[in-house]
Amino acid sequence: MTGYKEKQFIKIEPIEAFQDNYIWLIHNDQNCIVIDPGDANPVIEVLKRKSLSLAAILITHHHADHIGGVSQLHKKYPDITIYAPEKDKYDFVNISLKNGDEINIPELQINYKIIEIPGHTQGHIAYYDMKNLFCGDTLFACGCGRIFDGTHEQMYNSLKKISALPKETKVYCAHEYTKKNIAFALSLKPHDMNLKLRSEFTSKLKITVPSSLDEELRTNPFLNCDSLETFKKLRDLKDQY
Ligand SMILES: [Zn+2]
Repeated sequence: MTGYKEKQFIKIEPIEAFQDNYIWLIHNDQNCIVIDPGDANPVIEVLKRKSLSLAAILITHHHADHIGGVSQLHKKYPDITIYAPEKDKYDFVNISLKNGDEINIPELQINYKIIEIPGHTQGHIAYYDMKNLFCGDTLFACGCGRIFDGTHEQMYNSLKKISALPKETKVYCAHEYTKKNIAFALSLKPHDMNLKLRSEFTSKLKITVPSSLDEELRTNPFLNCDSLETFKKLRDLKDQY
């Protein structure tokens, strides 16, 4: 043995839950974390199958389809750490996070920076490791989240915040809405070449996430609003679509 620490291979895989949710699994073939486990059962099944040890749960926001499995997982794996947004109230013990915080997952040798991205909800946060962004229900592939307890202005600013990250950033959202989102975008811009290409490419895929921020900047209508008013109108149109 030497003091040299081999660089670990980190894998990021979706665990499908409910109709269209993705619970993100991040692991090194030994230890793992999960993001937004709305349902414990598919997580337990995958952990068993891959013989992974759960180190932590990361929560982006308080909706039931993102936290529904937390208590059951905590009961089954009592040593885990649970991270969640400071602005939300949770009935499970957690380490609360705000904008600019950093968390370290020693088991995976990963650090995440916390970025507050309210709009879908007031307390919504994203986890960013300088390459991958786990943004819950804020930025979707070719779309964005609905406005629940946040505001349009918050969402507009949060999308601006995400847009300023490096273009190579991989975007891991929490739902498979991409095909519907592209159809909506094409209804607004039926001749857009980038959208047509994205539609063609996506139609061959079952799992369309992650995308890259670069691709979102080129094709996502919600990232191309020049004012809050335009964004509001677009969000309303999509709500009725
Ligand atoms: Zn949500």
